[in-house]
Amino acid sequence: MSFTIAIDGPAAAGKGTISKAVAAHFGFAHLDTGLLYRAVGARVLAGADAIAAARALTLDDLTGDLRRPDVAQAASRVAVIPEVRAALVDFQHDFATRDGGAVLDGRDIGTVICPDAPVKLFVTASAEVRAERRFLELRENDHDVTRAQVLADVVARDKRDRERAEAPLKPAEDAVIIDTSDMSIKDAVAAAVCTVNQVRG
Ligand code: C5P
Repeated sequence: MSFTIAIDGPAAAGKGTISKAVAAHFGFAHLDTGLLYRAVGARVLAGADAIAAARALTLDDLTGDLRRPDVAQAASRVAVIPEVRAALVDFQHDFATRDGGAVLDGRDIGTVICPDAPVKLFVTASAEVRAERRFLELRENDHDVTRAQVLADVVARDKRDRERAEAPLKPAEDAVIIDTSDMSIKDAVAAAVCTVNQVRG
């Protein structure tokens, strides 16, 4: 039987950490859908056409250093192209409806990809908190960035994601909002698990 948990939110809000922990807690599979857009963005930086790259995407493309800041920006630029989004729908649907349960995190999972998901979470935090987290994460992975650059990148990417015509970033009407600005990872994961348990009964 399938059971889908949709987790959306802006960049570096803690979606990835929460999604992995929730998936592990319930023994569900996890898909970071941002990786699909990052993989297409990386192919475009290497000279490929965005739509052709999205149509030809395979699991092998989801590896490599897709966490780079330039790849993140390229991802949000290809993500405004309707044909790119359309090419990635089937893969996400198939993943969401697999037996045994699935957690998908992204920007439009609760609104567009899985509007019937029984659990929808919208994980957010202030831009400053998110930029600081992303800054520390990038520095830890040896990326040469400044705080100001990371904040500017996060704000630019949020703006593009929120204002695009196709599948803009916004909470589904029935999403539970988790603001992680003043929360520890442990508390944020506990809040997410608690919401899922309330639905599963
Ligand atoms: O989540 P992550 O930061 O890896 O996503 C990279 C970019 O991919 C986002 O800024 C967004 O533009 C795009 N994206 C999207 N829809 C999703 C997941 C990611 O448009 N479901």
